[in-house]
Amino acid sequence: MIDTHVHLYDQAFDTDRELVVVRAKKAGVSHCILPAIDKSTFQAQKECLELYPGFCLKASGLHPTSVDRDYRQELDFARCTLEGAIAIGEVGLDAYWSREYMDEQILVLEEQIQWARELDLPLIIHSRSSFAELLATLKKCTYPHMRGILHAWSGSAGVFREANRYGHFLMGIGGVITYRNARLAGVVKEIDLTEIVLETDAPWLSPVPFRGQRNESAYLEHIARELAQVRDVSPEKVIEQTTQNALSLFFGEKNE
Ligand SMILES: [Zn+2]
Repeated sequence: MIDTHVHLYDQAFDTDRELVVVRAKKAGVSHCILPAIDKSTFQAQKECLELYPGFCLKASGLHPTSVDRDYRQELDFARCTLEGAIAIGEVGLDAYWSREYMDEQILVLEEQIQWARELDLPLIIHSRSSFAELLATLKKCTYPHMRGILHAWSGSAGVFREANRYGHFLMGIGGVITYRNARLAGVVKEIDLTEIVLETDAPWLSPVPFRGQRNESAYLEHIARELAQVRDVSPEKVIEQTTQNALSLFFGEKNE
């Protein structure tokens, strides 16, 4: 399995990171993709990548909740961190807490889509309460090989389909799929297994039966198992297909 979205460098893991990595490997996790947030978390991310080379893989970018009026400095910093990144992320739009800097968030997303274009890298996109703006931005910035993950997807299958008119995007599925009231199960039923990747978003969004506790990559198997139940296929099938999807997105042939 590949955990396509985990903040292993978060201080929530400072006391036992090594054990977390051991448990992840034991659970069958072969790679963890570490998305960036902003300047304040860069050093911790860098150290974590250096500790687990080959296991932890780097994404670079500026997170939308770290965008404000003074975004230029953060964005220029992120631009200087692209070396060795296998993806641009996490980037995106977030209007859940506030719409105050939505215009700035859109500019920052547009610029980072340009980086993905220049470097021919996939995007890891965070999108919360801002689907209209996301679709408009993807439409405006679309290019032939645009691709990536719509991480922690909380939109409808219809919006997901529409995003896929502008690029090739996979749906990042995490612990939320295990929540009893999850609308997400209905959405996932409408999406092909070839369009899904697994992610934990650890230390956040722990799956049942760990909901409310710290999340970690070893719990990916709980997410795979739930997804298998929703899709009525075997967990092995889910793991095989989602791993393949992640491999071809990050390491595979470029999309046609
Ligand atoms: Zn994240």
